[in-house]
Amino acid sequence: MSKFLNTNTANSADIISNCDVNSDKLDFAKRVIISLHKEVIKNINSGSGPFIAAIYDDKGDFVCKCANSVVNDRCSNCHAEVNTIKEAEKIFNTYDLSQFNLSLYVTAEPCMMCLGAIMWSGIKSVYYSVPSNLVEKITGYDEGFKPNWFEEFLKRGITVYGNIESKLGCEALEAYVKSGDVIYKPKR
Ligand SMILES: [Zn+2]
Repeated sequence: MSKFLNTNTANSADIISNCDVNSDKLDFAKRVIISLHKEVIKNINSGSGPFIAAIYDDKGDFVCKCANSVVNDRCSNCHAEVNTIKEAEKIFNTYDLSQFNLSLYVTAEPCMMCLGAIMWSGIKSVYYSVPSNLVEKITGYDEGFKPNWFEEFLKRGITVYGNIESKLGCEALEAYVKSGDVIYKPKR
């Protein structure tokens, strides 16, 4: 619980976590997240939203990967995390992934809906890149309210590492916004 750092930074050296940081797990997460950021940039103007998530098992083997598909699927809950969890549950043919000790990697901090989806899925670890405050600042999306979610996840046995390679993630989000691609959100 001592690793809670300021999230108002894009410096990828400032990893935030709800557990002791394991450097092997962090190095693996950096490699995965860098490749996901590159894919976000490649996906610009494809109809995918600017977020991608991937799931790997505890041996580091790839399970599945999905982009946000809100626009293409005309569905507000088709966030990258939800799509990826649904895919993993199809692959393992179960609604409870907990026995597989899976990790979710995602290009941005999960929104309030995706935190719920992660909690219900049995995912054991979450590694994310760009913190929500920076996602909101760059894109204008509303990521919701998520009080004490690091602590709440820890209570449920879910470890979290955040702010991984977030500088590259911010660049990908900026490129998406600059491209004029859709910023999908409800009117207020
Ligand atoms: Zn979400």
